Amino acid sequence: MKNGHNLSRSVVIENIPLACSDELAAVEFFEKQRWGNTPCCIRCGSVNVYQMRDAKTGERNSRLLWRCRDCKEQYTVRIGTVYEESRIELRHWAYAFWRACTSKKGVSALEIKRQCQISYKSALFLMNRIRFAMAPDGDSPKLTGTVECDETYIGARKPRHFGVSKRGRGTTKTPVFCAVERDGELRRRIVPDVTAKTLNAALHEEVDRQARIITDEGSSYRGLAKVWLGGHEAVCHGTREYVRGDIHTNTVESTHALVKRGIVGIYHNVSREYLHRYLWQFDFLWNNRKLNDGERTVLAVKAAEGKRLMYRPSVN
Ligand SMILES: [Zn+2]
Repeated sequence: MKNGHNLSRSVVIENIPLACSDELAAVEFFEKQRWGNTPCCIRCGSVNVYQMRDAKTGERNSRLLWRCRDCKEQYTVRIGTVYEESRIELRHWAYAFWRACTSKKGVSALEIKRQCQISYKSALFLMNRIRFAMAPDGDSPKLTGTVECDETYIGARKPRHFGVSKRGRGTTKTPVFCAVERDGELRRRIVPDVTAKTLNAALHEEVDRQARIITDEGSSYRGLAKVWLGGHEAVCHGTREYVRGDIHTNTVESTHALVKRGIVGIYHNVSREYLHRYLWQFDFLWNNRKLNDGERTVLAVKAAEGKRLMYRPSVN
């Protein structure tokens, strides 16, 4: 798989709904994702470990502890992961991951609050970490083949002054650039403006030089044919031309539309400050749309673990 995560269609995936309602099943789900079939000590790495059990009943002890025979460490699956930072039950984490990964537009913290009957603050904590897990990891390959590029404006703020257009340029909404590989992945980012300089820089960072670029007729995109080896085609929306052969920007426009409907319909508008987090979620869902629901959930769970040390709440 492109992103390098090793997904197995194991029994674990079918157990996700159970993990959402039963704490023991949830703990075992997260243990499986973390350690696979070889649980190991979080302190010394030894695999000489065992589940601590109640002497009378033989059941796992109430704290679901593990113990290492080599270094005597006692630990749970939470230690050293994002789940360690909160006391929220793992079944709620499982449910939030599941919901965030199985709907096209994700899920809001408010919905998680209602369904899990946890505080809004806890639900926000959960969703912020899940969205962070979905953030691109920075080493994704550049897009290639036929790539549609377009910019749009997303966000909450309405124009403050009378007479200012409610859409597009000149408003205080946030400009967002997006490049989409036909039948492939997308790269989306917030940009400071939509000048040729800014959009070209974004294009160079996200798209391979071999690609063929398709845009609308916006003046910011003039001169691309000289740079991109696959050429540059533009559809002229101004003259009501939307499709010419395979030249269109329908894919990128549909992803913009999905984000806009999600931001308004599910998240009830998002300020510029937090927009990037929501884009991580939309982009993760789009880029992994060919996985099944369980595989997508497992991918996000695994990504959460790997990213923990980089998380800085004050920045993101
Ligand atoms: Zn140990």
